[in-house]
Amino acid sequence: MLDRYNRKINYLRISVTDRCNLRCRYCMPEEGVEFIPHTEILRFEEIREVVEVAAGMGVDKVRLTGGEPLVRKGIVDLVEMIASIPGIKDLSMTTNGILLDAFATPLAKAGLIRVNISLDTMEPERYGWITRGGDIRKVFAGIEAAKKAGLDPIKVNCVIKDDRNEPDAVAVRDYCIENGLQVRFIKEMDLHEGTFGVVDGGSGGDCRNCNRLRLTSNGMIKPCLFSDMEFNVRTLGIQQAIEMALSKKPEKGTVNLQNCFNNIGG
Ligand code: SAM
Ligand code: SF4
Repeated sequence: MLDRYNRKINYLRISVTDRCNLRCRYCMPEEGVEFIPHTEILRFEEIREVVEVAAGMGVDKVRLTGGEPLVRKGIVDLVEMIASIPGIKDLSMTTNGILLDAFATPLAKAGLIRVNISLDTMEPERYGWITRGGDIRKVFAGIEAAKKAGLDPIKVNCVIKDDRNEPDAVAVRDYCIENGLQVRFIKEMDLHEGTFGVVDGGSGGDCRNCNRLRLTSNGMIKPCLFSDMEFNVRTLGIQQAIEMALSKKPEKGTVNLQNCFNNIGG
């Protein structure tokens, strides 16, 4: 499908949960997070239907994210459901890797092709500080398990404060080179004001080449991460919500005033 700026839209990123087993400082507050009530979270059947309709309209690439996708109960079943939808050629996941040791093989068997794992530092203590309690050894075990399971490529998402020459970024890049992993640096966006937007001269989207729509865990199709616009698949119907998102997808992102990453899926 093409949007009104002639961009080909073939990629759907799905946030399967707003819950997470970590509390990264740049992403979620330590406590007092208001989670979406379970009744509002899309059931697997509903997610499957959205992907089926989207695939019929030209989506061939799906990424599962969150929150932490691996804390959603039955996630392997969901992967299997999506992988078997005709037209879906590429199925990937973004995860913090904490639970990947146990999940990598079942996920690969269910049809997951590749994985992005978040890792911002190589220092155990700093990792624990950034994530408010995460154990970096579990991430390394998850990466090893992903390799063994044949997930390929394995990419590492590394959030940087300023630039890729800062010590944490250099260490993560060296580790990736040594271990045959691809590294992607992501400039930290400031969510503390409760808003975030495209940052001048750097972070944010590559709007001209944007090929994606998003589905939030509570069923909103979002045409752009950097915008408040959203279309409810339950009230509008799936096809209509996707068509509206497509016709309203902005040429460039501006600012998002209400949502947070753990629902939209960064
Ligand atoms: N929990 C999974 C994970 O951490 O990989 C998936 C969801 S997480 C929201 C997706 C990506 O968004 C992660 O790579 C994370 O580092 C990134 N992210 C979260 N908050 C961010 C922020 N304030 N600025 C830039 N990237 C952010
Ligand atoms: Fe959880 Fe991922 Fe956000 Fe960290 S970045 S708090 S792991 S959703």
